[in-house]
Formats: sequence, C-alpha cells, structure tokens
Amino acid sequence: MFADIIIDVTSGKLDRIFQYRIPEALQEKVKIGSRVQIPFGKGNHEISGYVVDITDKTDYEPTKIKDIAGILEKDIALEGKMVALAAWMKEHYGGTFVAALKTVMPIKKRENNKEEKSASLAVSREEAVAKLEHLLLYKNQKARVRALAALLDHERLSFKTLKDAYQVTPSVLKALADQGLVKIETKRVFRLPQMSGEEGSDEALTSEQQKALDIFLEDYRRGEQKSYLIHGITGSGKTRLYLEMIEEVVKEGSQAIMLIPEIALTYQTVRRFYSRFGERLAIINSRLSLGERFDQMERVKNGEVDVMIGPRSALFTPFEKLGLIVIDEEHESSYKSEQMPRYHAREVARQIAETEGAALVLGSATPSLEAYHACETGKYTLLKLPNRATKGLLPEVRIVDMKAELKEGNRSILSEDLQEQIRERLARKEQTMLFINRRGYAGFVSCRECGFVYKCPHCDVSLAAHKNNRLVCHYCGYETQNQSLCPECGSKYIGGFKAGTQQIEELLKKEYPEARVLRMDRDTTREKGAFEKILKSFGEGEADILIGTQMIVKGHDYPNVTLVGILAADMSLYGNDYRSSERTFQLLTQAAGRAGRGEKKGEVIIQTYTPEHFSIQLAANHDYEEFYQREYAFREMMGYPPAEHLLAILLSSPEEELLERGAKYLKDFTKLLNKENLYGIIGPATPYVAKIKDVYRRVIYIKSEEYQALIHAKDKIEAYTSINRGYNKIYIQFDFDPAQG
Ligand code: ADP
Ligand code: ZN
Ligand code: ZN
Repeated sequence: MFADIIIDVTSGKLDRIFQYRIPEALQEKVKIGSRVQIPFGKGNHEISGYVVDITDKTDYEPTKIKDIAGILEKDIALEGKMVALAAWMKEHYGGTFVAALKTVMPIKKRENNKEEKSASLAVSREEAVAKLEHLLLYKNQKARVRALAALLDHERLSFKTLKDAYQVTPSVLKALADQGLVKIETKRVFRLPQMSGEEGSDEALTSEQQKALDIFLEDYRRGEQKSYLIHGITGSGKTRLYLEMIEEVVKEGSQAIMLIPEIALTYQTVRRFYSRFGERLAIINSRLSLGERFDQMERVKNGEVDVMIGPRSALFTPFEKLGLIVIDEEHESSYKSEQMPRYHAREVARQIAETEGAALVLGSATPSLEAYHACETGKYTLLKLPNRATKGLLPEVRIVDMKAELKEGNRSILSEDLQEQIRERLARKEQTMLFINRRGYAGFVSCRECGFVYKCPHCDVSLAAHKNNRLVCHYCGYETQNQSLCPECGSKYIGGFKAGTQQIEELLKKEYPEARVLRMDRDTTREKGAFEKILKSFGEGEADILIGTQMIVKGHDYPNVTLVGILAADMSLYGNDYRSSERTFQLLTQAAGRAGRGEKKGEVIIQTYTPEHFSIQLAANHDYEEFYQREYAFREMMGYPPAEHLLAILLSSPEEELLERGAKYLKDFTKLLNKENLYGIIGPATPYVAKIKDVYRRVIYIKSEEYQALIHAKDKIEAYTSINRGYNKIYIQFDFDPAQG
C-alpha cells in the first residue's frame, strides 16, 4: 500500500504531493488525515506530513519509494481532519488537492498580530505621589510627571491613550518601568467585529416549535445524530427553533455551526444570536479582513467559542466536538461555491456531520428540490412549521396580468392596482416594499402583448439574446434568429425587459412627490455599512417606500410593512436554466413573506406577463407541496437534478480555436468512456457569458442517474486532460449539479 502525503500544510508553499510506502506494521494505523513522520530529501532527515490518499498502485519505480517512518498521533488531530475533508472534496468535486486544502483551511499565517501595550502604577499611590513631587523639581522631567499624574487618575491606560491624550511616548514609559515605578503589560487583542445584541422574543415556544424541538432532542440524546429539514413558512419561528436546538447542544458540551446566506443580508439574525450566546459566539463574513478571520479561528482553537455563525466558509470551523450544523435558508444559491472546488454547503455539511457524528438541520420556507426530495427518500427527517409564530396571517396575494394593463392603455411599470395601493399606504402611514426581480436575468426575449417567450425546442429553457439578433440555448447550443414581430401574435412589443431600481425610484418621485423613498441595490450599498444603514432607517420609519432587488427579500421583520409589490415576477422564469421555476417560486414566496409581519394584515401584488405559470400561481397560493410535485415531475421528465445528476464541464481558454477543438475532442473522449451507456452527453455549447475578459468559454454536460458514474467520468477526464498537451492552455472546471445554468 502507498500513501500520498502533503508535507507542509500550513505554509502553503509546498504544493506537491509525495508518495511513500506504508510498511506492514503501520498498515492498520495509517488513515487519510494521519500525521506521519517521513524521511525527506537527500539527507533523509525526518519531517512530518499528512496522508491525503491511500492507494495500491504507484506511478513510480516501486523500489525507489521510501517507507513511512512512523505515525505521530494515534488519533487524527484537528488539522488531519481538515486534510481528510479536503481529500473528500477533491474526490467529489475535482480539481487539485491544494485548491481543496485552501478551501477548508483558508487562513494560513498569523497576519500582523495586533498587540496592545498598557501601563499602570507598579508602586503604591503614596509612593507615586512622592515621586511625582520630587520630579516636579526638575525642568526636563515634565513627560514623566504627566505620565504619573495620568496613571494616578486612571488605574490603567493604553500606550495609545498615553500618547494621544497625554503626549507621553513609549520611551518615557519604558524609563519609568526601568525605575520600577510603572508596570507594562502586553495583551493580544482579538479583532472582534462590532456586534450588538437584539432581544428576540422569549415567549414560550409554539406547540409546533416544541414538537420539532422534542423530536430533534430525543434523537440527539439517544446518540442518533440525524439530518432534518425544517419546512417552515416565513415568520414561523425557524430562527427561534435553531437557537433552542443550538443552546441544548451547547449545554451538553458540544459546539455548533450556524450557516446563514450572507451575513449582511440577515444581520438581524446575527444580533439575535449574539444576545443569546454573547462572547461565546464567533462570526465570520466576507467583509472581515484576513486577520479578523484568523482571530475568530484562534478563539475557536482556544476553546473560547461554542457557536460559529457565518456564510458557507464557516463550515470549515475546526471545532473539537462538533454537535450540530444548521443551514438557514438552505435553498439559497450562495451556498454553492462558484470556484473550484465547486462544492455545495449542504453536501459538505452532510459529510462533516457524518464523520464528526453531528446532527444536521436545514431550514427554509421554500426548500430546494434536493432537500425536499431527500425527505421523500428518507435521508432527512421532515419537521413542519406551517403557521406564523406570532399568529399573524399570511398575506393576501393578488396577481396582476401586465398584458391586460397594456391593452387598457397603461404603459407604466406600475399597474393601476399597485399605484392605488401605494397611495392608500401613504395615507395610512404604513410602509411599502417594492421588489424588482432581476435574479438570473439573462436577456430573454418576450412579447408584452401575448406573453410569448422564445424557448429551446430541445431543452425547455428560454433562449438568451446574443449579439446580431441571435437567440441561443445555453445547454445544447440551439440557435435561432430574433424576429422584429412576435411570431405568435404579430405584435411589435417584443423584446428584452428593461427596468431597474433607479427608473422605479424616479417614477415614484414623480407620482408621489410626498413619499420618502429609499433604494437598495448594488449602487447604493457599495460603502461599508450602507446596507445596514438603509435597513435601519427603513425599520425606524424614516421612509415610506423601500425599493430593492433580491437583496431586500431576506430575513427582515418590519411590522409596519403592509404592502409588497413584486415587479417583473417573470424575470427569473427566463433565467435560461433548469432551476428557473424553482428560483421564481422561492423569490416570490420570500418576497411575499415580508408583508404583514406585524399585527396588521399584509397585501402582496405580483405583476407578471405570464400569470398562468404554475410557479406564480402556486407562490400566490402559498402552496409549496403542489409546487414541489409539479416541479419534480418536470425534472424527472427532462432528467434534471435531483431526479438525475448533471455534471457541467466548463472549459475556458484565451484561444478560441484551440478551445473549440479541445471541447470537441473532450466530447469524443467522453463518448468513448461511455461504453456502458451510463450517461447522456450534451453539448459542447456556449454559455450565456461566452467570454470573460477575453477568455472564451464552452460547456459540456453529462447526465446520469448515478452520481458515482459522473465522479468516475470526472476522474478519467482529469487524467486525460492532464497528460494531453492540447489541454495545456485550456482551464477545466467541474460543476456537479450546477446551480446556475
Ligand atoms: P423565521 O426564522 O421562520 O422567519 P423567526 O424565528 O424570525 O421566524 O420568528 C418570526 C417572528 O416570530 C419573530 O418576530 C419572532 O420574534 C417571533 N416568534 C418566534 N417564536 C415565537 C414564539 N414562540 N412566540 C411568539 N413569537 C415568536
Ligand atoms: Zn406576442
Ligand atoms: Zn437546447
């Protein structure tokens, strides 16, 4: 048996993997993640490394392979666990081992450690006063006098304060310390992100919450760490339930990881966690500096943390005794990494939970098809919260057909109904949220008169508009010409949909000059803290209307919002990929969930050109179950995930011709691999973004019922392209069950 060993994990300098033989005596003991001692280099001096893979074959001359000298720790240490996880990720998602390792252990070196020096008196107050009086006799001792006087007034002062407020330099303090008058202390300062708590309700759990908690705890205490999906409508008290579950797990001496989509989007959640766990909570997010991230992980390693909250990378928190992983809003696309290794947090969490013996809890008002399907097959236990925790009612949802509006001569972005409702809210001093759905928008072409949309005859996804009036399918490459008149009804109102948050803001200002309007989009949230500021100001009633993109959909509780308007509800339907219906259902349900969170009943208006679409109809009826059934039937018929598995092989290169050829050969190779007909092969096609920064892109899809067949194909393709010179200038990425088309 042979072991692949990586040498210096933390320096990140040695990217190479070396092979050693596992001697007979160690064969039982050496595992993936084990830390071993090996002879290295010419002098054969012994160094340590981690085992990343174990195989029974080698590419080298067997007699030249050295033996592992010994095993360092019997149990796999924390770092070894991370190495083992990286090995799993490489195996499941492809790419290099180093890329996987960097994902699971992103922080390498201690980055300019911040230390704070402070001074205090080393003698009694009397002695200090006497010394001060003595020093007053000398003209050139003024700085020392200032220092002693300051320290008599304040027990302890930082070097910084002494310098800024008292003009006392460190050298003066050093001199006083040498005289034995002053004590200097150095403390490592952990860079903690600013946090403040927010009291959540501590009212008794609802009977539904209690029932779910009991099921979870009964399994947990019995030592059965299972996976659960909490399907709870918006405002059903899921967050409250996570808090209780985590608190119990912590009480039993274990730690928990809480994933939330993107910290900024749900800062209310973070505050609730902070008020519950205080200093025992650590937080990471994409805005933290490397140093701040490092500090959070240090606190974890020092055992100072019970709960880590953060986006998908928080999964890689090295807890000693992990008891629970929670993934809030598990359907969110930000849980999928769009860089190699392109992992999904849900899958990696399951792997970690299994190896660590931890429980996994997913929660959503609109579960992903994957998660709900996993409940149907018994992989997850389904826990339901079908009612709002506050006894509030779900809002009433109305669908407005924008085609009819056009027929009646209203060419505004806002329907008559919505305009009137906004006016009413302004009069009643209630708030409105206007949500423009732009996610997944990729230039589909539709008819505003009859609702016709160009679709691929082979793949049942909408075609995307490219240059020169070409309309292209991103799966199979099918192409057609865009006509200037609608092929269905002959109308000239056919084209791409154009409306942004800015245009809506201008329109509102014209229509309702008295209204105070806030806008939240990429432009207005560029500055640090801008996001929170807008939400806070809206929450405090400083504006009547908040306009935003999908950013405003998430996790905010505004009791005074009684109207939600959703513009261009269809936009995400034409995202040109197989998940568009699902994404639309999710966005509409989540957006609608913002209305009527308080005591007043909410109303929701959905504006669309395709009012009959099942995603829109079922979101308006709050009917997830029916949506799931219909959507799953579609996936099954077309062979899309989760009914089958899909592997996207993304090829990119600055040389288009080379890329074209490489993609074609790769497809031929994949066909050869497929002797047993285990999968279907589609493409090569040109993705919507056909070129990024002068790098061209192509994609080939492989579809199979067996995930393992796809992993096998991936391995073979990696081997083929790594030895074949033609692929030197082509970058290849693998994307399993891609989130975006
Ligand atoms: P979700 O995460 O499902 O959207 P939250 O946990 O945020 O739900 O709860 C929604 C609202 O209901 C919050 O204002 C919360 O304080 C309140 N809430 C949650 N649980 C209860 C409860 N048991 N009793 C009363 N109010 C509750
Ligand atoms: Zn038409
Ligand atoms: Zn197609």
